[in-house]
Amino acid sequence: MKRKVAFFALILSLSFNSWGQNLVPKPAIALKENTLSAKPANGPVSKSSRTEVKTSKPYKIIIVTDSEAYSKASEFKNYLITKPPFSRMGDSLQIELVSMDAEKMNCKNDHPSSPRIITCNRDLIYKTQSNYDAHLSLAFTSKGSGGAGGDIPVASMDYPIQTMFHEMLHTYGLDDEYDYSKSEQSVYCESPVSSANVVYFKDTPPYKTDSLARSKHAREVHWMGQIPIKQLITSGSDLGSQSLVKMNIGLQPLGLFRGGSCNNEALPGWRPYQSSIMKGYEDDTIYPIYEEAILRNIESAVGRKTTLPPAEHHCVHNKPSIEVIKNLGQEIDSALKKIPHPHNHQH
Ligand SMILES: [Zn+2]
Repeated sequence: MKRKVAFFALILSLSFNSWGQNLVPKPAIALKENTLSAKPANGPVSKSSRTEVKTSKPYKIIIVTDSEAYSKASEFKNYLITKPPFSRMGDSLQIELVSMDAEKMNCKNDHPSSPRIITCNRDLIYKTQSNYDAHLSLAFTSKGSGGAGGDIPVASMDYPIQTMFHEMLHTYGLDDEYDYSKSEQSVYCESPVSSANVVYFKDTPPYKTDSLARSKHAREVHWMGQIPIKQLITSGSDLGSQSLVKMNIGLQPLGLFRGGSCNNEALPGWRPYQSSIMKGYEDDTIYPIYEEAILRNIESAVGRKTTLPPAEHHCVHNKPSIEVIKNLGQEIDSALKKIPHPHNHQH
């Protein structure tokens, strides 16, 4: 797995000159360079102005953790930097582990109606976030069991590593893609609102053809234009892509699948993939729809557009043959030693 990521990184870095350097947020650089080139008398960009350019702030996440949960928090940091867009952010991402006293964090399961929800000392975590000049805080705890989304994602150390990622994506505005139980729906689903990954609308069968169904619901399904023609959004005359018995993890097709959060007979919910990190942990791949939602959040937090190297999934289409990979083996290993590797950056 690690080797595969490294290989993609190499392919990307070979295709894009000085990729490592370009990972510094591009808009900031472009602006600076324009300003500089307007004054040719200054000659080449001096060392000091380069330093100045680099001070354009990265997106910063702090992972607050008590001492018992520290290794889980550290494991999560390593996991997160393998996931797009974080895997491609290089120097424009900073993740820092922050130790905090478990008593002070005060995390506990104190919602009798939702026993898996954990809350912590938000005021203290916010204060710490501000001291560290960070954009987002995550909290890992050895106290309590479960997780919570909201403005500070929380996860307990006894839950799978994907739990924190799932909660984090709630913070970025993504909704659960599994159906809530009747009692949960009575609490959370008074007036369901469509989001980046779950949309609500009433279907109107029968649908004569797939393309008629597409044009009829194009406005309600914002990812409709990206669904491949081969991937039907109807099953017979009903709306909804058919689920496969065996999913192709990491390569699932985008479609229109019934279900998600407040889905019910009166107001159906629809989601983009058969399974995703927001439905369960079977496939925790970050598909483009999720990546876009994350990026939009990061951009609004740092107040500028983020330009990243092309997505890794683009490589799927021009994957080199096994023979080529075998022969490249030696070269890759030696080349990797020389290339500054964004995936290995420690902050
Ligand atoms: Zn959730």
